[in-house]
Order: sequence, then structure tokens, then C-alpha cells
Amino acid sequence: MKVKINEGCIGCGMCVAICPTVFKMSDEGIAIVTVENPTNFEIETNEAKNSCPVQVIEVIE
Ligand code: SF4
Repeated sequence: MKVKINEGCIGCGMCVAICPTVFKMSDEGIAIVTVENPTNFEIETNEAKNSCPVQVIEVIE
């Protein structure tokens, strides 16, 4: 699987709270992906994707 964050993140921090191994807040106050192929964190990554209030997290199986 691969994960990326599309434009439109509002910096709520939800994805970082759910899966801090894969997501991190940047200095600009938006989330970035630190592990692009989070195979060992599939459940948490999908939970973060489903919890994003603006649905900008994209998971490619
Ligand atoms: S959950 Fe969505 S809006 Fe919130 S920080 Fe993560 S990518 Fe951005």
C-alpha cells in the first residue's frame, strides 16, 4: 500500500494522533507522510484516512 496527503489539509492533527509513525505535522502546520509504504501500519493508516475531516488522505492499495 501507499499513502499520500492531497491538497486541502486543515491541520487538525487527527491523523498524527491516530498514527504518529506514518503522519507528522510539518512546520507549516499541515500533515505530511513520513512512511510512504506503511505496510506494517495498514489498519492505523486506514483509520486515519477514514477519520480525516476533509478526506485528503489517499491510500493506494
Ligand atoms: S486528519 Fe486530514 S485534515 Fe487533519 S491533519 Fe491529517 S490530513 Fe490534515
